[in-house]
Amino acid sequence: MKFAIVSRGDERSDKIKAKMKQYLIDFDLLYDTETPELVISVGGDGTFLEAFRRYVDKLDTTAFLGVHTGHLGFYTDWTSDEIEKLVIEIAKTPFHVVEYPLLEVIIRFSNDEKKSLRSLALNETTIKTVEGSVVFDVQIRGEHFETFRGDGLCISTPSGSTAYNKALGGGIIHPSLESIQITEIASINNRVFRTIGSPLILPKHHTCLLRPLRKDSFIIAFDHITRSFTNVKSIQCRVAKERVRFVRYRPFPFWNRVRDSFVTEVKRDE
Ligand code: NAD
Repeated sequence: MKFAIVSRGDERSDKIKAKMKQYLIDFDLLYDTETPELVISVGGDGTFLEAFRRYVDKLDTTAFLGVHTGHLGFYTDWTSDEIEKLVIEIAKTPFHVVEYPLLEVIIRFSNDEKKSLRSLALNETTIKTVEGSVVFDVQIRGEHFETFRGDGLCISTPSGSTAYNKALGGGIIHPSLESIQITEIASINNRVFRTIGSPLILPKHHTCLLRPLRKDSFIIAFDHITRSFTNVKSIQCRVAKERVRFVRYRPFPFWNRVRDSFVTEVKRDE
């Protein structure tokens, strides 16, 4: 099996990366950063998001696994003192894969009808502006839904529902529900502007289209990556046809993960 390891880059994560890499090579696995079947992230959730981004064009053939070198992360199941056990699992056991939905974002531009940018997000996309507020015509399934004015919008995946979305008051969605969630970031509500004020959960095939009504320059984040865009004509969001594949050598049900991350950590059986 071909594998790659993405480290956070700090001394501790780099040491664990080097150790795992050597152990796995000793077990006759092939280190291949071009077309790995297994990508191991060593660090935190941010490192996992980076590993996902690096191999986003190879999702069909790549599965991901996270080792945390700090506190328990949402995508990082294994601790650094379980490395030996994990290496033996990887070398000896065929892995079980769990697939989660992703968000597809398509940005179209007013200065070039043919130009568009397609991106996938594991957690979410957020659309904000540097100055003032964003004003959007929000369409759902091709119909006008509302005119949004406020700091921005967050559109998240089910696995991202525990990240920024949660801080915005969004609901936690089980990843077996193929959906995206739209949450408001400080909407302005008065006699002129009125928004729903609640998070919206859209099923697969229901597209959300945002059309800028005033400015067309935005700060758009895809997970941990933030970019600025000008001449934005529209931003389209829906459940992607691609899915992310997580490697599981032991069960870690979603609700246990949520409990351990946010309520109380329960020690798992060996
Ligand atoms: P970061 O280091 O600021 O990470 C923010 C926190 O989000 C970390 O504690 C991380 O463990 C946690 N996190 C990431 N994905 C998660 C998930 N799916 N479920 C639960 N917690 C999760 O930034 P980063 O490492 O570059 O990560 C980028 C992510 O940070 C974004 O995708 C966004 O979801 C999150 N974020 C959160 C807030 C907020 O909660 N107010 C604000 C901005 C960004």
